[in-house]
Amino acid sequence: MSTLAFDLENEAATVAFGLRLAKVLQAPVTLYLYGDLGAGKTTLSRGIIQSLGHEGAVKSPTYTLVEPYELDGIEVYHFDLYRLSDPEELEFMGIRDYFSPTSLCIVEWPDKGEGVLPEADLKLNLAYQGESRQISLTAVSAKGEQILAELSPRS
Ligand code: ADP
Ligand code: MG
Repeated sequence: MSTLAFDLENEAATVAFGLRLAKVLQAPVTLYLYGDLGAGKTTLSRGIIQSLGHEGAVKSPTYTLVEPYELDGIEVYHFDLYRLSDPEELEFMGIRDYFSPTSLCIVEWPDKGEGVLPEADLKLNLAYQGESRQISLTAVSAKGEQILAELSPRS
């Protein structure tokens, strides 16, 4: 299980990191995004989703739980499970159908879906660091390890 960490000096750095990450992602892949409110999970998601070709806004699907994006060659599902009261609700929304061989799933507040949510490839944690942020990435599958290797400053 490998981990990498990077300092993100400002919002633009978080978005830029999303772009960099998007370049080394190949579906199917699942990202879990951890961190306090305002830590930058949605900002990072916006960087990833816009890098993959989406031109409009990226808002957190706080009330709808998931926002789908049909992009060139990839389907992206952006989840925000903050308001999920019971992981069982994910069964009712047919959660497994979203985690297809051609999809990228980005999940904010994955701990709310524990036990029902499919496993991640990569877990990302955003943390406050003074006025800026730090991101740490932990690989939890072979695919996750491959992504980390491609992001590694030494590669
Ligand atoms: P979350 O989804 O984790 O609740 P958001 O992405 O919605 O967080 O909000 C993050 C806030 O922090 C935004 O106001 C954004 O401008 C700011 N922000 C994002 N990245 C950084 C950073 N690296 N340094 C400082 N502020 C940041
Ligand atoms: Mg958010």
